[in-house]
Amino acid sequence: MVTLFWGGLAAVIAWTAFVYLSPFKTCGKCGGKGRKCSRCRRTGKVRRFGSSVVHRAVLSIRRARAKGRL
Ligand SMILES: [Zn+2]
Repeated sequence: MVTLFWGGLAAVIAWTAFVYLSPFKTCGKCGGKGRKCSRCRRTGKVRRFGSSVVHRAVLSIRRARAKGRL
């Protein structure tokens, strides 16, 4: 069970780092072309699930650290 816990924790950390470093993925509806696509609004890229949550969390941690150092 301990191994399962650490494995799960490592997976969550790896996923968080991955989403933070590459928050966008190629749009599956238009294949990244973005022509008349409503899903990606013609950008050809869509946000990964949870990317906004991860970025918000990182920002709040940075702000808290900045306050603590002042
Ligand atoms: Zn698209």
